[in-house]
Amino acid sequence: AKHHQIIIAGGGNAGISVAAQLFLKNPKLDIAIIEPSDKHYYQPAWTLVGGGDFDIQKTVRAEAEVMPKKAKWIKSKVSRFDPDNNQITCSNGETYSYDFLVVAIGIQLDWHLIKGLEGNLGKNGVTSNYSFDTAPYTYECIKNFKGGKALFTSPATPIKCGGAPQKIMYLAADNFRKRGILKQSQIKFNTAGGVIFGVKKYAETLQKVVDRYGIILNFKHNLVEIRAKEKIAVFEVEKDGVKTLVEESYDFIHLTPPQSAPDVVKNSSLAVPNNPLGWVDVNKHTLQHNRYANVFGLGDVTSTPNAKTGAAIRKQAPVLVSNLMAAIAKKGFEKQYNGYGSCPLVTGYGKLVLAEFDYDNNPVETFPFDQSQERWTMYQLKKQVLPWLYWNKILRGTA
Ligand code: FAD
Repeated sequence: AKHHQIIIAGGGNAGISVAAQLFLKNPKLDIAIIEPSDKHYYQPAWTLVGGGDFDIQKTVRAEAEVMPKKAKWIKSKVSRFDPDNNQITCSNGETYSYDFLVVAIGIQLDWHLIKGLEGNLGKNGVTSNYSFDTAPYTYECIKNFKGGKALFTSPATPIKCGGAPQKIMYLAADNFRKRGILKQSQIKFNTAGGVIFGVKKYAETLQKVVDRYGIILNFKHNLVEIRAKEKIAVFEVEKDGVKTLVEESYDFIHLTPPQSAPDVVKNSSLAVPNNPLGWVDVNKHTLQHNRYANVFGLGDVTSTPNAKTGAAIRKQAPVLVSNLMAAIAKKGFEKQYNGYGSCPLVTGYGKLVLAEFDYDNNPVETFPFDQSQERWTMYQLKKQVLPWLYWNKILRGTA
């Protein structure tokens, strides 16, 4: 097996941030990044793409452009983790060994768990911002809507950016309002969850937004099937512990697929034991694996119970880098992650509530004003500032 001191699995937001920060600490480190894709995506902007307020082409760059020059890029996919032997096997057939492993391969979109969806996503009014290919189609659906039923869903599993399923709904509602068709539109949010948002301070604002647009909220509704020809979505609805199936017709539906750790993690001993979602089992404060001391993890793939966002990675990466450097030097850990996550809740065109909170769902706000208010400045932060920060600072390890 070829050997590297540090192998980083995944060259997305988390993997590239960590690699860049490690090289800033010590340019002599021997780091390999395993990443199969030649494209790198800025996914947070897909919400605005779906709302017709951001160019999809500005959300993608060549992976080669964001790869740190000093890193060895292994352009392949991890097909097997073997942490007992400090080895990884790739789909190119090669096996690599490491002293330290960082797992950052993101989340898996389980589209296949929605019956009837295959072959029907991205046409006939079935869309999702959760993929580069279909985010632009969301805007087609919104733009061409002439009144009727617009349906938005959120699944029963943890997902990346928990707010995204509703952000696009508020943009759609605002679009209908501007075009004067809100009155003849029925907008429904069918979510498997039981609340509009986990942090009370922001939930209160969101409830007002929901009322303003006349949105109907249906909790404990889990999308299980799309009957595309009939334009019917089927939900499993839980009431008093009893599950029944409920059909909803739609003119267009924006869906958010159930999500889990990639199968390659699920099927390995890195996963949380007895958890079907298979997250990488790390300590939620140190980001070190709970059983393999030379393995660390961050980003969407891990078991840490924070909001799965790029914003969380911005706080996780320096903690992981500090603790990994300490492990290399055989010293004690100095840094802890407090569960910080952020959700820039777009509530309309030019309107945004910047939710920021920790593991205990306590707000931890950056700005010296009440962030539960809808603000134009915060919308500009999302649209203009954060994409710039991502490409120019976060991926270079300097923010
Ligand atoms: P990713 O960035 O997804 O990267 C994972 C990488 O691993 C990919 O490059 C992939 O090719 C690679 N990979 C996968 N499998 C393998 C394998 N077997 N071997 C090797 N490599 C592999 N975050 C925010 O902070 N704010 C927002 O407003 C926001 N909005 C969002 C809206 C939408 C619609 C979506 C989809 C996401 C949003 N996010 C937002 C979430 C944010 O994009 C993710 O949390 C972030 O990208 C996670 O980074 P990651 O590195 O863990 O995973």
